Amino acid sequence: MTENQTLSPRLRGSRCEHCETVAFPASVSCQRCGGSETTGIDLSTTGTVWTATIQRFPPKSPPYVPPAEGFSPYAVGYVELPEGVKVEALLDGTSPVDLIGREVVLVGSDPVPSFALAGALTTNASTTTAVTTEEEV
Ligand SMILES: [Zn+2]
Repeated sequence: MTENQTLSPRLRGSRCEHCETVAFPASVSCQRCGGSETTGIDLSTTGTVWTATIQRFPPKSPPYVPPAEGFSPYAVGYVELPEGVKVEALLDGTSPVDLIGREVVLVGSDPVPSFALAGALTTNASTTTAVTTEEEV
């Protein structure tokens, strides 16, 4: 039984047994209180974009491995999860203004976390009635 791949990506974090601070990546000791008793947990797969920017030039290589077709700009940012932890992640988008404050869903966790706008994946008519699709030229 393999259920840890492809179907639903997960982010593993940890929670402090003393002060309940959640950390990502999972840590064996708490950065807030210094406690050494932590429990591994699955983090939420939805969050809110806290900040974002566009990476317009290739990062230092290594560790960055440019794709075979060459580098193209991509969005990166921090996604705040309900657990109170901010996760650095790749974002599916081309404009920080369109990303910041939006709800996003985890779409990949390997090799790095990546999120896509929640509205792009599901049609939730009750909450997204005001969404318009504008083409910026
Ligand atoms: Zn702690």
